[in-house]
Amino acid sequence: MRTTNELRIAVFPGDGIGTEVMDACLTVLQQLEHHVGGFRLITESLPAGANFYRETGTDITDEAMQKARQADAILLGAMGLPDVRFPDGTEISPHLKMRVEFGLYAGVRPVKVYPNVRSPLSDRRSREIDLVVLRESTEGLFASAGKGEVIEDREARETLVITRNTCERLFDFAFNLARRRKARGGQGHVTCVDKANVFKAFAFFRKIFKERALLYPDISTGFNYVDAMALDMVRRPWDFDVLVAENMFADILSDIGGGIMGGMGMAACAEIGDHHALFQPAHGTAPDIAGADKANPTAMFLSAAMMLEWLGNRHELEPCLRAARRLETAIETGFSKGAIQPMEFGGPHGTAEVTRAVLADFGA
Ligand code: ATP
Repeated sequence: MRTTNELRIAVFPGDGIGTEVMDACLTVLQQLEHHVGGFRLITESLPAGANFYRETGTDITDEAMQKARQADAILLGAMGLPDVRFPDGTEISPHLKMRVEFGLYAGVRPVKVYPNVRSPLSDRRSREIDLVVLRESTEGLFASAGKGEVIEDREARETLVITRNTCERLFDFAFNLARRRKARGGQGHVTCVDKANVFKAFAFFRKIFKERALLYPDISTGFNYVDAMALDMVRRPWDFDVLVAENMFADILSDIGGGIMGGMGMAACAEIGDHHALFQPAHGTAPDIAGADKANPTAMFLSAAMMLEWLGNRHELEPCLRAARRLETAIETGFSKGAIQPMEFGGPHGTAEVTRAVLADFGA
């Protein structure tokens, strides 16, 4: 347990709507700190991303990486722009470097439908959707990022990596997450999503999942091939609790999650390792709406709530846990009372208006 209630947050606004939703989020966090009391966030904004690369030729400095390493948590907007690329054609994504550098293997992506947000699914049970996609975030197919090769313009190769060390920690994380959700009324069920019928790497992934499952007899398990999972996420997502999958598979499944919960502006994300954690919305920089006060900041706010919860649990800081719940309640109330109707879903509220609604719920 720490002796101070001060927490240092490394803030990376990034590019496009990342900077807009981050501005809104910092205002919300400041007011939340004032409203709840008992903890203090010391934030430092750091440059990194596509615009920074365009200006300096560097995507992120060693100094910024070092500050992120030393912080209690990292809060990130979104990074990358389609027209700014490295010479090999790939996008500028220093947050991928951070995932690997800081060992952030557990990508937690909740999929939940908020009141009055219409899921594109017409089934009435879509209101009950409440699952989490747990994305392994340091290896899988992404282990090859920046290392793939194109041989004589004839063929391209990328290598998938699955390690026992990461899988064991990932599955433990999944079972513990299911336990915490079960304590709050959840199903207590983990589904292993893979392609074990075709690839050795995924048969290995599944084997380790089964081994770890034995240590959590209170949590039930299921298996789904990733193609069937994509179908089930549209056909019956309300039946699932925690889904755990390799990096690339879960990247795709979490976008399906964003779709069924209404849009990417609702898709929060926490990337957690044994010693560091990064919180960011799962959406990108959305250049099509950047600079127009059209971005839905909800995913950013929900990611900040996940940060407060993680910090509260890690440092046994009850005020942070209260602040996390307070922020979630303000968002939930805003949607159920119609005070938050984001433009993303055809409503009248842009970033500033959604932010005002959340602040108004705090009485700010
Ligand atoms: P990436 O490849 O980094 O995920 P992308 O540009 O392909 O980035 P997103 O930025 O996630 O994908 O956005 C896809 C579309 O969803 C955007 O073009 C935008 O219209 C919409 N969108 C994404 N995030 C939001 C948001 N917070 N509010 C409103 N609309 C959003």
